[in-house]
Amino acid sequence: MENNNLGTEQTRWDLNGFYSGVDDPQIDKDLTDLVAREKKFYEDYKGKLAETLGAAITDLAEINMRAEKIFVYLYLKQSLDVTESAVKAKMAAVEQIASEAGGNYLTFFDIELVALDDATLEKFYASDAVVARHRPWIEHARVFKPHLLSEPVEAALSERSPFGSGSWSEFFDEVEADIRLPFHETEKTLTELLDVLTNSQDAAERAEALKVINTGLGGYFAKYSAQSLYVVTGEMAVERRERGYKNPMDARNKSNRIPDAVVDALHEAVTATAGPLARRYYTLKAKLLGMEKLKWSDRNAPMPFADTTVVPFDKAIETVLAAYGSFSPTLAGLVKDFAATHRIDAPITKGRRSGAYNYSIVLPGNHPTSFVFLNYLGSNNDVMTLAHELGHGVHGMLAGAAQGPLMAQAPIAFAETASVFGEMTTFNFLKKQLQEKNDAKALLALITGKIDANLNTVVRQIGFSNFERRLHGMDAQYKTWAEPKKLSVEELDAIWLATIKELYGADGEVFTYENAEHLWTYISHFHRPFYVYGYAFGELLTQSLYAQQPRFGDRFEPLYLDLLRSGSTKDVVQLLAPFELDPTKKDFWENGIRVSLEAMVQEVEDLMAKL
Ligand SMILES: [Zn+2]
Repeated sequence: MENNNLGTEQTRWDLNGFYSGVDDPQIDKDLTDLVAREKKFYEDYKGKLAETLGAAITDLAEINMRAEKIFVYLYLKQSLDVTESAVKAKMAAVEQIASEAGGNYLTFFDIELVALDDATLEKFYASDAVVARHRPWIEHARVFKPHLLSEPVEAALSERSPFGSGSWSEFFDEVEADIRLPFHETEKTLTELLDVLTNSQDAAERAEALKVINTGLGGYFAKYSAQSLYVVTGEMAVERRERGYKNPMDARNKSNRIPDAVVDALHEAVTATAGPLARRYYTLKAKLLGMEKLKWSDRNAPMPFADTTVVPFDKAIETVLAAYGSFSPTLAGLVKDFAATHRIDAPITKGRRSGAYNYSIVLPGNHPTSFVFLNYLGSNNDVMTLAHELGHGVHGMLAGAAQGPLMAQAPIAFAETASVFGEMTTFNFLKKQLQEKNDAKALLALITGKIDANLNTVVRQIGFSNFERRLHGMDAQYKTWAEPKKLSVEELDAIWLATIKELYGADGEVFTYENAEHLWTYISHFHRPFYVYGYAFGELLTQSLYAQQPRFGDRFEPLYLDLLRSGSTKDVVQLLAPFELDPTKKDFWENGIRVSLEAMVQEVEDLMAKL
């Protein structure tokens, strides 16, 4: 609890615009009103969408805003002290009532919307302004129309779903949390041991931690994990056939609004261009760590020169404002509002949720708002986190105002655009300051920290994705799909090591891979098929966009603001067209890697030559 001299004590949220406290009677009044509106929604529109779609959408948006107001208030409140039982109890009570009402009164809407015939919708698009405006939202819901099964089958599947692969993944998380492994005469959790890997300055200790992890994950946990992945891939294969999806990734790509060709181009570019750069960087890292060769346990090792910067909070805001202001007065204005209207909560306090996040919503009256949560300790990294979360914040404010509650939220694959962009702008701003001070060591710490993070987002996640693609039946050349097979622990170990080496080099080239074969077993993201490539996608897309600024000059800002305002109304190809970027081309992704990763690796080489 070290807030000394950081000036964060005054940086607290003002939540009085929502309610005066968890015991405010208005919460229950709002909840009763919400349930009544949902019931009326059901009575007014069930079975009648073909005549009343516009009015139904208007009412649904209203319901959405009113529900968000209650939930977001309680969520924000809970973040400030997760141990406070009054908030927890209120949250549980509200959730129970709202989810029952939602289940009873709202589920018909999606089903009936998808079932509407095209001619009816065309008529609406031509004659009803509300429906016309929500066309992208409606069309996205209907993308899945050809893949729906008959109503009784869908109902049965949905009733069965708590007992399918989802329950395996839930149980997986529980079992994993129970893992205790012997280390230095104590018992450690997996999280604690992974923490040793990223924070220990001692190579021998890191190697020992990895050995304990890998050995501990072998045995029954690996068998259990292999079976859980078989359930995931098997269930997916059956549904793919029955629902008529082209391949196992088709459903995820459709829900991300990303054409298959774009996904393929991303994977190819990362393997061809980012892989060699990763190897080049880790060779430099070995030198910086004073090591001949790296073991896999050294990949995330901290550098010997630590970042000891302490930035007071008002200085952090000033830096982020200046960084945003350097390319967009509009965004700087929005950032200024966050601070002025008490929508940032920064100090480390007792019982607080860990980490950082942004929550953006549209409140009743079509009023967009957004809150930033931090655990601010004053490192350069914390300044970039502030810039990242404010990026989400300005994205939410712009999209909320432009699109309203139903279309404000950008799809996963480009939800990180404004945040990564803001972080990158601030990173370059901090870098310039250190360059002016001629502080080569602090510069090296800043840049290597950024490269480590970038490689874990881009190369590591594509490695995961390749493993996952093989699991679901793709061949070793990533060309064709076959039915997934039941794979033994040994087979999975072999695929895992092969997919790592494709990117990080053969054994002994940069890394040696002892005690790395079972590390696939604890990656819980594999239970949400094809989720991981989205991380690499978002990062590289934003880096490409970021690099367009000099080329577009003054024309950049208005185009960028339009992109943020589009919320969920465009797919990735439409989104990037104004910037003359085409993500279906492999060179789009290669350029994204060059302008970010390659440029930073080059800087590290230059700095090392200087030192
Ligand atoms: Zn983010």
